Amino acid sequence: MLQLYFPSTFLDGELRVTQAGRDLRQLTTGDVFGELAILYNCKRTATVSAKTVVRLWYMERQTYRTIITNKSKKKREQLMGFLKTSRTLKDLNDVQLSKIIDSMEEVKYQDKDVIVREGAEANTFYIILKGEVLVTKNVNGHQKQIRRMGKGEHFGEQALIREVLRTATCSADGPVTCFSIDKEVFEETIPIEHLELFDDSKVLQEAQAPVKSSPSSTLRFKDLVPVFYQEGRFQGDPVTLGVGGFGRVELMTTVNHGTYYAMKRVSKKHIVAKRQEEHMLFEKKILKATQCDFIVRLHAAFKDTRYIYMVMEFCVGGEIWTKLKEVGRFDEPVAVFCTACVVEAYAYLHKKNIMYRDLKPENLMLDVKGYVKLVDFGFAKEMVRGEKTYSFVGTPEYMAPEIIKNQGHDFAVDFWSLGILIYELLVGSPPFSSSEPQKIYAKILDGVLKYPPYLSEAAKSIISKLCRPRPGQRLGNTKNGIKDVRHHRWFSNMNWHKLRVGQLDAPTVRLIRKGPCYINFDRFPVDQTKVDEEFSGWDRDF
Ligand code: ATP
Ligand code: MG
Repeated sequence: MLQLYFPSTFLDGELRVTQAGRDLRQLTTGDVFGELAILYNCKRTATVSAKTVVRLWYMERQTYRTIITNKSKKKREQLMGFLKTSRTLKDLNDVQLSKIIDSMEEVKYQDKDVIVREGAEANTFYIILKGEVLVTKNVNGHQKQIRRMGKGEHFGEQALIREVLRTATCSADGPVTCFSIDKEVFEETIPIEHLELFDDSKVLQEAQAPVKSSPSSTLRFKDLVPVFYQEGRFQGDPVTLGVGGFGRVELMTTVNHGTYYAMKRVSKKHIVAKRQEEHMLFEKKILKATQCDFIVRLHAAFKDTRYIYMVMEFCVGGEIWTKLKEVGRFDEPVAVFCTACVVEAYAYLHKKNIMYRDLKPENLMLDVKGYVKLVDFGFAKEMVRGEKTYSFVGTPEYMAPEIIKNQGHDFAVDFWSLGILIYELLVGSPPFSSSEPQKIYAKILDGVLKYPPYLSEAAKSIISKLCRPRPGQRLGNTKNGIKDVRHHRWFSNMNWHKLRVGQLDAPTVRLIRKGPCYINFDRFPVDQTKVDEEFSGWDRDF
């Protein structure tokens, strides 16, 4: 009888495998046996005995295990490296990436096999381990090759986070091995709020676009023309959407009409007089770098000797403030929806280490779908985690006690103001108010919140947790961060994923009026002020 304790490869001869005296099978030249038992360190489950004279190779447990371990380690490292080149996944830590690898599967394709088809529903992400994949797109009925992908490249990352359709066809060019993960498995592994959304359909289109950049695709100042009031008291005047502490926001369109823009125009002299140079530069810098569906987009910025201009997407639904004044107070689903949009914007900004610091209904705008967007980044600031800043900024009603007391503040002030916002949306006025700022500050420091009887228990709970006087105890600013806000029971009916991908029906749409494009805005008389030129040069980088 021949008892082997190592994985062995047969050279010649014949072996018999038996279990409890029963013949299981025969082994002959080229067969391998014994590898499972040593890998899992268990007892042999069968007996192998020689029927003839036998020659074979064997390997000892330690050697075998070392080879296998090194091989899997190498493969994991390689996959980890591949995953880190994905823009969507790159911010995940090694533990999370490792979890993803654990849930992925290897799939093989033959030459010409279609892996994903253009127009099909996307729910799988792929990394190419071996072979080449051709990416093609249907252009006027013909399959046009866009590019060729090889080992380590991946496709379909959008599928993991958005509900999308495939924007191109990917097929195997020769035999291909991919590593794949399905959306559902992925969602169980990684909370989607850890991810930043990227639009890879755009990347694909850019990859196809001719390298020559056409100047007409960028917005030029001279192409912008004002939109005029069509009727009423100000008929014929340019439409002003809002007048803030610093500037005026006017409705513009392009010469060939089509898109509307909201253009903020601020006097440079005024900026210098009010020492707002840094704020202005930072507002532009942030908006330019921001790509979030819950934050207004900046399309272009211009300057001349008198003004700086920021050309933003036009939020046609108007200010939340206007809507709130129209209806008095919001019912709970509307307030929950608006607040959830703000939570998403906060998650985006805080992850980039930016505090917003100017939350209030005047700075929340509705887009055409009724989704809420943050505008006005004049008070936003980039902060190193763990540090505090001592500036006195914000709108009195929304200021956190630590700002008033000048104790140094950080991201926690955004959660305080979120509590104030929820209160104001549900009640119609903020909890600490007075015509004199000093009285507002005194009330904030007293910290007594009075809730009208119609507020739900959940609403009172979230407000009081967000408006805790000690920043370290405030919801959103403790161990689990913004997750605790999302998980509060006031949001129990919120589908955060659908909100993020824009697939929730916004209850705010019924607040948006139909009519001329400026119908959701207050009207303002034309600006007659003559402003002086300003040449100090602070706006060099604007
Ligand atoms: P503040 O006094 O709040 O500092 P500001 O001068 O910084 O004001 P913003 O708050 O940015 O200016 O804009 C003033 C108003 O203009 C907004 O409250 C809003 O009514 C309108 N507005 C701003 N951006 C847009 C936009 N993208 N689309 C439509 N309206 C806008
Ligand atoms: Mg504002």
